[in-house]
Amino acid sequence: MVRSASADAHALKEINCSSVSLSTLDTLQRPLQSLRLSVTDRCNMRCTYCMPEEDYKWLPRKDVLHYGEFTSLVELFVEAGVRRIRLTGGEPLLRRDIFRLVEQLTALNALEDIALTTNGLRLRDCALDLKRAGLQRVTVSLDTLDEKKFRALTRRDGLRRVIAGFDSMEDAGMKGTKVNTVAMRGFNDEELGSILSFGIERNLEIRFIEYMDVGGATDWKSTQVIPKIEIISILEKQFGAIQALPKTDAAPANRFQLQNGTTFGIIASTTEPFCQSCNRSRITSDGHWFHCLYAVEGTNLRELLRENRMDELRSLIRSQWEQRTDCGAEDRLGLAARKAQGEDPDHPHIGMHVRGG
Ligand code: SAM
Ligand code: SF4
Repeated sequence: MVRSASADAHALKEINCSSVSLSTLDTLQRPLQSLRLSVTDRCNMRCTYCMPEEDYKWLPRKDVLHYGEFTSLVELFVEAGVRRIRLTGGEPLLRRDIFRLVEQLTALNALEDIALTTNGLRLRDCALDLKRAGLQRVTVSLDTLDEKKFRALTRRDGLRRVIAGFDSMEDAGMKGTKVNTVAMRGFNDEELGSILSFGIERNLEIRFIEYMDVGGATDWKSTQVIPKIEIISILEKQFGAIQALPKTDAAPANRFQLQNGTTFGIIASTTEPFCQSCNRSRITSDGHWFHCLYAVEGTNLRELLRENRMDELRSLIRSQWEQRTDCGAEDRLGLAARKAQGEDPDHPHIGMHVRGG
């Protein structure tokens, strides 16, 4: 029933290569196609799996890119093949008038997809402006429907506000909203079915994510990871047989279908990494480019950008991607005693909230 990871990787490589003939290819023939912009490292939650500390050393404000600077960088990445942008963070809706960045990206007329991932706390206030600006899709992170558990996980109140955010998205006419749910043993394993039912009621596609040992997730333990196979068996007990769907795009989720036709996804980044087909890279809010979520160091693009050395930037982007060998999640599979990369206070870009989830 479940396709093997290597069959999917092979199929995806074909999808990648056929759909983006102009993209720059790395050493594993993976196209430079999808870019995540972490527009801020600030967040109005403190999810225990992402920002376990209360206080952080924030990136200096003077280094944070303006919207025009992000747009100039995106133009260069478009020339190198990028067609899909996701705004993330930190919490992207904390950036003032973030819809202005969406407007600028839309005006490039070169992107197939502009999406945003949010914790949903400020969606109520932003949904209409985002839709008008041209945002195509939103993913909202929601790991529990229980207020007490929500508070324990995020260390903030706000479940009702997040749920009101879904209503605002619908009122604004935004279609295709997805929900990211990190599955964690001992936290929400008994709620996975209710979250899927919540998605069915509201026409939201749920994507369960395996708990990852990314930088920042300092409390991560392998025993808390609920592997894809177990997520399926938990859901089958409630919903009956589940069918795996073939891959149709290079997105990280494996998609599944219930007997009633409901579809959902599982992102098995911890137990079945998809490095072989990974076409994603990310830029931090201070302009550092990371070729892999697990890469230790990024490349500072900000200085060349602020000195207007666009030709140098252009060739640096292409040449770095052509030399890319990263398979960070696969490398971590081989680690004997696996633990999160840690929250090194001297490493300003290690946390997931800095490099963008
Ligand atoms: N603040 C926004 C949000 O929460 O949606 C965007 C940034 S957040 C870093 C992006 C995604 O990364 C969220 O869906 C979050 O659940 C996920 N994430 C963060 N830490 C994670 C971890 N240790 N394992 C799996 N997913 C994680
Ligand atoms: Fe939670 Fe997103 Fe903030 Fe991380 S960046 S603490 S996942 S809301």
